[in-house]
Amino acid sequence: MDIHEYQAKEILANFGVDVPSGALAYSPEQAAYRARELGGDKWIVKAQVHAGGRGKAGGVKLCGTEHEVHEACENMFGRKLVTHQTGPEGKGIYRVYVEAAVPIDREIYLGFVLDRSSQRVMIVASSEGGMEIEEISAQRPDSIVRSTVEPAVGLQEFQAREIAFKLGLDPALTQHMVRTLKACYRAFREFDATMVEINPLVVTGDNRILALDAKMSFDDNALFRHPQIAELRDKSQEDPRESRAADRGLSYVGLDGNIGCIVNGAGLAMATMDTIKLAGGEPANFLDIGGGASPERVAKAFRLVLSDSNVQAILVNIFAGINRCDWVAEGVVQALRELQVDVPVVVRLAGTNVEEGQKILAKSGLPIIRATTLMEAAERAVGAWRQDLTQGTKMRAV
Ligand code: GDP
Ligand code: MN
Repeated sequence: MDIHEYQAKEILANFGVDVPSGALAYSPEQAAYRARELGGDKWIVKAQVHAGGRGKAGGVKLCGTEHEVHEACENMFGRKLVTHQTGPEGKGIYRVYVEAAVPIDREIYLGFVLDRSSQRVMIVASSEGGMEIEEISAQRPDSIVRSTVEPAVGLQEFQAREIAFKLGLDPALTQHMVRTLKACYRAFREFDATMVEINPLVVTGDNRILALDAKMSFDDNALFRHPQIAELRDKSQEDPRESRAADRGLSYVGLDGNIGCIVNGAGLAMATMDTIKLAGGEPANFLDIGGGASPERVAKAFRLVLSDSNVQAILVNIFAGINRCDWVAEGVVQALRELQVDVPVVVRLAGTNVEEGQKILAKSGLPIIRATTLMEAAERAVGAWRQDLTQGTKMRAV
């Protein structure tokens, strides 16, 4: 789960990272008022969306008067901000953060990520802040400093000092940098983050180290033990299909294709998407309905997949280990009777009670296309979608 910049800054500040003074606003009027409250004569107005690259996309504006703050906000609120990280549909701007502008001497990149190969938290830093890390690694790979943290002892002082030295920081700032690094690491560990990124971390004209931007992502599977993080979730920033799925406890990722997938098990769901592509189609989603899929759960999955208007065929692929094919078959039949499904549905069942499952499908009298192997199932789904296309797709009411 992602959170907003202002929320990440608040968390990091609680651990000891210095941030500029700022305030949140939900309207241009409130933003102008916030600027007055903050004082000073220059402010930065920042669109709060779950994506980077806002600066280049018009989501970060330097303002010299309260009137300019108001004006900048009028151009932001209600609009969709499209950055290279949002995709073409963009992300809605419903909150802005107003900050006292800071005179910048140097911009540093600082990131904490999970390095899967070493299975540790890795610190990535670069003296070339301001640019995106992808750009830095393409243009100035030699400027990148990497350091992995030994989890048994945590981030060590010498290790943090070494990073500060490698970045070429003024020695007078070393202690401040060490404090900043340790604070980020503690925030990362404490809240089961998967990513902390400060870009830019700046050295100010008066020689302080400030986080000018902040991004944090968290491990969804650990949110249950951090209710204070879970409540920061902002559905306005999520793909509505994925929000619906998360609310129903289903693991769903929306994609651009038109063959909807209902599968049990993440690995099998990945294999199903690959096989659909191999058969010449494009999957509309990743969906893992889990091990013990009850008929109700299967029906929920159908409703979710069909809520994507791009879906023109559905492939149900179940390998019943813990599950039973007859239960799944009952779920499919129930879903097809309850919902008005007028796209072709291909079902492939394997494993426990497969014969009973097949019988239930056959006896239902519903136009279910059956398949035995995964390849066959994918080919039939792609074939059914193509045929449907040539016949002209009808309107669908769900
Ligand atoms: P991003 O584009 O979404 O990563 O948004 P950032 O928060 O990183 O802002 C983009 C850029 O705006 C930064 O790289 C800075 O160069 C600039 N910026 C942000 N805040 C300030 C500030 O207080 N003073 C100055 N001079 N520039 C700022
Ligand atoms: Mn940034």
